[in-house]
Amino acid sequence: MHYNKEKTNFNLTKLTILAKDIVELILPSTCLICQNELTRQEKFCCSLCFNDLQFTHFEKFNEPTPMDQLFWGRSQIHSTFALLDYEKGKSTQVLLHELKYNNNPALGQFLGELIAKKLKNTAILQGIDALVPVPIHHRKRFTRGYNQSEEIAKGISKSSLIPIQTKFIAKSSHVGSQTKRGRFLRWDNVSDNFSLSKNKPSTLQHIAIIDDVVTTGATIEAMVASIHKTFPNLRITIISLAITK
Ligand SMILES: [Zn+2]
Repeated sequence: MHYNKEKTNFNLTKLTILAKDIVELILPSTCLICQNELTRQEKFCCSLCFNDLQFTHFEKFNEPTPMDQLFWGRSQIHSTFALLDYEKGKSTQVLLHELKYNNNPALGQFLGELIAKKLKNTAILQGIDALVPVPIHHRKRFTRGYNQSEEIAKGISKSSLIPIQTKFIAKSSHVGSQTKRGRFLRWDNVSDNFSLSKNKPSTLQHIAIIDDVVTTGATIEAMVASIHKTFPNLRITIISLAITK
């Protein structure tokens, strides 16, 4: 029999999601962080762990946030927002790991809705025509089953009614894990890895790039540079689930 590794991985992913659904039907859900049983009103984590999450509170800042400062002198960005501070060993790390590696796209949507709620009465979401998730390579999407940034975007879109645009930028080459490389090497590696469709819908004036976690900002910097090379006047806001502290 012809052995197709990618297909097998894909089927396993689907099977794991199905198995998870069945387990959730039979057993009560538990908190992703403390493993205590959840009440019917609680989703993904209990209210104690939820209140203990490392929220950035950037939506309340009057002065530039550390995230604004990260991009100063590097990219022309309209505004930025991150919901959570990412610190190793803290509960935010558990949530991000679950979203990226444990087949939990619904968690991304849940957190995306939370982002939209936090931004509801702020200027950040105003005037944004489309949400553009940071693309992942199609091979990674195939094995993971979803793009985590797209799931976050779905949650933001559901609450804010801003449409998602996945058609005009794509990840163009597969370079493997870059997490262990230094900032400059990493930038070189990602700078030309995005390809743009020349057919930007003419209605787009201001987009929000949606990311899962901003660390050095190199991926965003490369993506903004690629977009501005083709569409120099497009206004860009960055919204991330988390930012490394
Ligand atoms: Zn808990």
